[in-house]
Amino acid sequence: MSDRTLYPAERGDLRLSFEYFPPKNEEMERQLFDTARSLDVFAPGFVSVTYGAGGSTKSRSLTTVKRLIEECDMPGTAAHLTCVGASRAEVDQVIEEFAKAGVRHFVALRGDPPGGIGASYSPFPGGYENAAALVAGLARRGRFEISVSAYPEKHPESSTVDADIDMLKRKVDNGATRALTQFFFDNDDFERYLERVRAAGITIPIVPGILPINNFAQVTKFAGLCGARVPEVLATRLAHLDDKPEERFKEATHIAAEQIADLARRGIRDFHLYTMNRAPLISAVCDLVGFPHRAAADGMPQGAAA
Ligand code: FAD
Repeated sequence: MSDRTLYPAERGDLRLSFEYFPPKNEEMERQLFDTARSLDVFAPGFVSVTYGAGGSTKSRSLTTVKRLIEECDMPGTAAHLTCVGASRAEVDQVIEEFAKAGVRHFVALRGDPPGGIGASYSPFPGGYENAAALVAGLARRGRFEISVSAYPEKHPESSTVDADIDMLKRKVDNGATRALTQFFFDNDDFERYLERVRAAGITIPIVPGILPINNFAQVTKFAGLCGARVPEVLATRLAHLDDKPEERFKEATHIAAEQIADLARRGIRDFHLYTMNRAPLISAVCDLVGFPHRAAADGMPQGAAA
């Protein structure tokens, strides 16, 4: 690990989780499991696997989750689950299948409408009508840990931040114990949102979602769809580095590590990293922040066992 870390974390001081998506082919599958094994050195509290809206990735998500639990010894693996476009019976069946595979933690989501982000949404007849209803369904079916989404810059379908926070409150009232946020790049936006969430009486951990930028153009496009603002300073720092991969990697590492270190200085202790199933940038970010490595022999992070 480098001596020049931005926020040298003590063991257990800051906690990480990593998000993966289910691979589409054998090569992507190899990449995902190599990534998961290599990032395990940071001793994440949990890893999670996304689930396509409408069940489009059901079997790939289930296989991925099973392999992470059984082959990679990651029993805390969380399964994302969406309820859009499916009946309650279908969703309940999926819950059973994941539970049978050993899943004890779900990330409960509504999912985007079939027309994509921003298209109009109607609940599926006889389905869970939104994420709050899905949380209630999960809580009825077992003793699961239930995480949900949160949107520091407002969900694109929401009329106001307050409407969003009302929805978060409904999810918490129904049993959610943690919220993972949409990615954002301005920590002031997150801090303002957190103040409003706490003022609304919501006390569960609100874990910032951090997206290290592999590809600036792609992230800008996706952020536009999700309603996440890309500050001008990021364009200034990254846009001219399209043809300079090494410099771009270094700058992207600094941007994400600075964001995490700044949040840590503001008192945030948990971070959910969108990995895009690739290890190098995520590893570099975690090392630059100063997250300790797990020692291979005893499973303890290095520097902690003395
Ligand atoms: P909800 O929490 O039910 O709603 C989100 C917000 O939209 C609410 O705050 C509410 O105010 C508003 N809203 C909802 N419905 C309406 C309505 N009818 N009219 C007006 N406002 C409304 N998607 C996937 O497909 N698979 C995944 O694995 C996945 N993982 C995610 C993980 C995280 C951490 C996050 C932040 C998002 C993820 N998403 C995923 C994206 C998510 O499915 C979309 O953002 C979806 O549009 C909303 O789902 P939700 O659970 O956030 O919805």
